[in-house]
Amino acid sequence: MNVYDGQRIAGMLTSRGMKQTDKVSEADIIILNTCAVRAKATDKVFSALGRIRNEKKPDALFGIVGCVARESGADAFRRIPELNFVLGPQSYHKLPEILENPDIKLLNIDLGGLEKFDELPQLEKSPAVAYIPIQEGCNHCCTYCIVPYTRGRELSRPFNDIIKDTIHAANTGAIEICFLGQNVNGYKYTDQEGKTYRLSDLIREAAKLNAIQRIRFTSSYPTEMTNDLIDMFRTETKLLPFLNLPIQSGSQNVLTRMNRPYSLDLYIDIVNKLKSARPDIQISSDFIVGFPGETDSDFEQTMEIAKRVKYINSYSFKYSPRPHTAAALMPDQIPESIKSARLAKLDAYLNDLQREFNTSCIGKIMPCLYEGVDKTGRHLVYRTPYMQQCITDTVGEAIPHLAQIEITDANKASLRGKIIK
Ligand code: SF4
Repeated sequence: MNVYDGQRIAGMLTSRGMKQTDKVSEADIIILNTCAVRAKATDKVFSALGRIRNEKKPDALFGIVGCVARESGADAFRRIPELNFVLGPQSYHKLPEILENPDIKLLNIDLGGLEKFDELPQLEKSPAVAYIPIQEGCNHCCTYCIVPYTRGRELSRPFNDIIKDTIHAANTGAIEICFLGQNVNGYKYTDQEGKTYRLSDLIREAAKLNAIQRIRFTSSYPTEMTNDLIDMFRTETKLLPFLNLPIQSGSQNVLTRMNRPYSLDLYIDIVNKLKSARPDIQISSDFIVGFPGETDSDFEQTMEIAKRVKYINSYSFKYSPRPHTAAALMPDQIPESIKSARLAKLDAYLNDLQREFNTSCIGKIMPCLYEGVDKTGRHLVYRTPYMQQCITDTVGEAIPHLAQIEITDANKASLRGKIIK
């Protein structure tokens, strides 16, 4: 979501004649697009702001947008008085106001619904992977999560608006569509005639576009994996055989305290249905370790579920108390040393699973999407259908394309391959 927001902010400013620069000291406007999901991310924003105020040109405008802006509000101006603007994730389309009135302090952290999507100009040229938001906000209210506070209640965009964006992306260079939402598979939109559209309808419609070769979506909630959506993995070959399906914990007790009220049996049942719909599918997950009250036995159950599902490409984090969340006030907060030990154990196992899966790919030929040239300038970087990075030796076409690549080597982090065609 932040990649998408960043692209739209850049698009909005370039459409006004501005150019992007990597150098803070050259910039006329500096925008930090921020994430508040963990305390560490928020701390990093404020230390970066401290650095930027010393490096920037004296008259350059600078500010924050996104979830830290929403979380901090006017307090951000108190902490960094030189800031010019603080705009929440649903108000960054107001950014041009600061260009017109550089002397004001612009604060807008309203939850404005879907207004920004109507006001932002379309990107002139789509990246090869087009991120298309289909809903924003979340109604699940997991007890550890700040998203319902920063992005608000769940709202689904009109079906026709999303398809219009998808067609525009396809016509301007997109090869892959990634539908986005905090609760993406909960997408539900009813039009004026009373017809209701789900994520499966969006996938079916996007797949009709010739330019679009790959479709995926993120982030999913387990109980929203309805049968129509699971069936898409059986019938729609453009849908990639890879799904991030966060479980967060393998302990039923912890899931209850997280307010994620699905049973582990139901979760496994969904995974089995997905595997029967698409036998080559691989699943990744997000995990939180050290949630308040998590016992050694709870944690071992998380290790068990990882062994059972054999996840690839997963994300794991130590629980981080966030303001405005119920879990931050729970008793039995887990000491950092225990959280760190559990995370190290889980990470080591998830890394083994990733290495094992990557190694099993050697000898296979996969359609991979070109991403760019690596830092050395000597290799091309591609992305496999399982979101693994694949590096090839041949420097060929430096334009977005799909290539058939034979995987020749693998380690935990990436694959090596040679282009077949
Ligand atoms: S489903 Fe995801 S976004 Fe929604 S509250 Fe839970 S963790 Fe946060």
